[in-house]
Amino acid sequence: MHCLSCYYDLHGLDESRCPECGRGFEPDDPRTWSRTPRRPWPSLRVFLPIMFGIWLFLTIVFAIDVASQTPAGGSNTLAVVESAMSAFILTLVFSVVLLIGFAFGRRHSRP
Ligand SMILES: [Zn+2]
Repeated sequence: MHCLSCYYDLHGLDESRCPECGRGFEPDDPRTWSRTPRRPWPSLRVFLPIMFGIWLFLTIVFAIDVASQTPAGGSNTLAVVESAMSAFILTLVFSVVLLIGFAFGRRHSRP
């Protein structure tokens, strides 16, 4: 049993209030406290589709941008591939930033 706000261990307390952050909880109501000692990591099932969506979006944006600069009649295939690769690198950087931000967000789980 852990606090929903700060994940303080709530076992063996006399009152139904977190001594760390003051958040109230009901021992009989599992919705008012957390079973795990910290925020769970986002699962790959959630993470991957979001990353794929961002990548697809960036690829389309880049491809449109490249296509508008390509003279009429020229082949766009290589440009589209390059767009997809740039978008992939950007998506990778974005996911790393997101994961670092999440790791820092977890840090105050313990006093
Ligand atoms: Zn708390």
